[in-house]
Amino acid sequence: MEKVIIIGSGPAGLTAAVYAGRAQLEPLLISGPSLGGQVALSSEIGNYPGFPEDIPGAELAQRMHEHAERFGTRFESDIVTSVDLSSRPFKVVTYGNEYEAQALIVSTGSSPRKLRVPGEKEFSGRGVSYCATCDGFFYMGKEIVMVGGGDAAVEESLFLTRFASKVHLVHRRDQLRAERVLQERALRNEKINVVWDSIVTEIVGDGAVSGVQLRNVKTGEEELFSTSGVFVAIGHVPNTAFLQGQLELTESGYIVADPDGRTSVEGVWAAGDVADWTYRQIATSVGSGCKAAMQAEHYIAELEDRAYPGRTRLS
Ligand code: NAP
Repeated sequence: MEKVIIIGSGPAGLTAAVYAGRAQLEPLLISGPSLGGQVALSSEIGNYPGFPEDIPGAELAQRMHEHAERFGTRFESDIVTSVDLSSRPFKVVTYGNEYEAQALIVSTGSSPRKLRVPGEKEFSGRGVSYCATCDGFFYMGKEIVMVGGGDAAVEESLFLTRFASKVHLVHRRDQLRAERVLQERALRNEKINVVWDSIVTEIVGDGAVSGVQLRNVKTGEEELFSTSGVFVAIGHVPNTAFLQGQLELTESGYIVADPDGRTSVEGVWAAGDVADWTYRQIATSVGSGCKAAMQAEHYIAELEDRAYPGRTRLS
């Protein structure tokens, strides 16, 4: 039986692994579809303290991974399909295995929100992308569309100007949500054209994307806009499908947790974006991963004290 299983390998999970490893808990981390989560897909990270020159997201994730490994975390590259939190030890089922654990830290993050328009699914991977870092290179010298108005959409638009001849940033309002410094950079960039007050109602093409149907939400005007690529950055949805009926979740699927990450089940903590719909920063995820691991350490020590009363603890 594992003392603690950490589910998810973004900054929250990897930080929890560093702390749990240093506390001699020999954590098992089940990494999910890709190590590093969303951070590993970010082109440059410019707001994580200690890296004033920006650091590629993949490199930051790799460094966190090495750090966790150095203190004894074991990594399993697998996906958790279900958990049973109704009795102790907790059960964790993956595609390849079944585990038992005294404590769990859930840090499964979130996934890109879909536009849910005709053509999106059909052209996914053939002109529709949710990852500028992964797919930007394929649009060298081409005109592309980016949908969204938050930090992610604006930052990724700026990144895509390295490849594309023009990035048309389609936003549903007349004001961007992104932080001011990003907005100013984008609005100054000659390769970025903001299409205000507009939504994509359909993605069209024949084998590959050739255009998007746009609607101006103020005038109702429709336009078929030519493009060979559509990038979507309109927020995220939490990865909690495997927790349905096991943990208290909000209406939108986020884990309900207190400021220390305690969930509705004693012995289970949440860390990172899976329980955070407000901040969603690497810095906040790191903090919540740290808190969850420290909480889990105390919890396991108490369980052991109960099991072996009078035993002398080493630390
Ligand atoms: P976000 O801040 O929630 O922004 C989502 C954007 O997509 C909003 O502009 C929203 O429009 C638009 N949107 C949502 N649903 C839509 C739909 N169905 N159709 C069209 N547009 C839609 O999400 P995010 O940009 O992914 O950022 C998430 C968090 O990560 C934020 O806290 C952000 O600060 C952080 N982040 C930070 C950085 C950075 O600091 N460098 C980079 C990336 C992300 P409205 O504005 O009208 O709501």
